[in-house]
Amino acid sequence: MESKEAKKDIRSFSIEELEALFLQLGEQRFRAKQVYEWIWQKGAQSFDQMTNLSKGLREKLSTSYIINAIQVDKVQRSLDGTIKSRFRLHDQHLIESVLIPVPSDNRYTVCVSSQVGCSLACTFCATGKMKRLRNIDAAEIVDQVVLVNKQALETFDHPLTNIVYMGMGEPLLAYKSVMKSIERITAEDGLNMSPRRITVSTAGIAKMIRKLGDEEVKFNLALSLHAADDTKRNEIMPINEQNNLEALMDSIEYFYKKTKGKISYEYITFQDFNDSIEDARNLVKLCKRFPVHVNIIEYNPIDGAPFLKSTEHRIDDFAKYLKDHDVTVTVRRSRGKDIDAACGQLANKD
Ligand code: SF4
Repeated sequence: MESKEAKKDIRSFSIEELEALFLQLGEQRFRAKQVYEWIWQKGAQSFDQMTNLSKGLREKLSTSYIINAIQVDKVQRSLDGTIKSRFRLHDQHLIESVLIPVPSDNRYTVCVSSQVGCSLACTFCATGKMKRLRNIDAAEIVDQVVLVNKQALETFDHPLTNIVYMGMGEPLLAYKSVMKSIERITAEDGLNMSPRRITVSTAGIAKMIRKLGDEEVKFNLALSLHAADDTKRNEIMPINEQNNLEALMDSIEYFYKKTKGKISYEYITFQDFNDSIEDARNLVKLCKRFPVHVNIIEYNPIDGAPFLKSTEHRIDDFAKYLKDHDVTVTVRRSRGKDIDAACGQLANKD
C-alpha cells in the first residue's frame, strides 16, 4: 500500500498547476477550479467532501494525492473566554493557536503559529525553549484560521475578525509560508479577509522587514520590542545582536514609507528590568520616526525565566509617561493565563 507521505499534498499546487494536472488526467479544466475552491474557500479536509466531483474522480485523486490537513488534538478554555487549541500536523508535530474573543469590541482574533518551535531563544518565552523543528506550511497556517474560525462561530456565533501571526515561531523566518498563507487568506477565491485585519509580528529581522516593504504588503507589522536600548534587548533577545535597534528603526521606517501600513510595538514589562521611567524615555525616542502604537503587555511568568511581572503601579506610571509624550498606548492585561495561552507561554504543554 502506498504510504501517506509518498502522496503529494494537492494544496501545494497553484491554480495553473492544478489546471495542467487535470488536463493531463483527461479531466476538464473547470474541475481544477472546483477543487481549488474546495481546498481554499471551503477548507475541505478530504476528497470525499468534494461532493460536486464524481466518485470516480475523487477516487482517482486520492490514489496519488492527499490533503495533509491539521487535526485538533486538544482544546483548552480559559475562564476569560480565550480558547487555546493544540493541533497535530501530518508528521505528528504539535502546534498551538489561540482564539481571543473581545465581544465588547466585536473583535475575535486568532493568534496563529508559523513554526514548530523557534530558533530565536528569547529568554522570557516558552516557545524559545523548544528548538525549531520546521516551518509550518502555508496550508497548515490557513487550516489554523479555518478551524479557529469554526470554533468562533460555534462558541460565540461570530466569525474571526482579526489574525495575528504571533504564536509559535518567527514569521519572517517562515517567510514563504507566511506570505502564501496571507495571499490565500485574503484572496477572493480564498477566505476573502481584508489584509488590514492581519498583523505579522516579528522579533526584528531588519533585512526581512525591508523585503516586506519592497513587496508593498497590505498587512500590518508588529515589532516585539520589549526593551528600548540595545544592552537590555541583547540580554533578552539574542536576535538583537545582529539586528540592533538602529537597524530595526531604519528598516521599519523604510517599511512605513513603502506601505503606509500600521505599525505597533509590543512591549512586555518585566519588574525592575524595563519598566522604569528611564526605559519609558528611551521608548519615546523610538516612537518619533513613524506613526506607531505601543501595546504594553502584562508578563506571564514561565518556568525557568528570570523575570517577574511588573506591578500595576509601575505599568500605570510607564503608560502615563508615554501618553504624556504623545505616544499612543494600550495596556493589555493578559488573556488565557490559566491555560498557558498568553503571550510567550505557547509550548505544547499538557
Ligand atoms: S518570543 Fe517569538 S521569536 Fe522569541 S523565542 Fe518566542 S516565539 Fe521565538
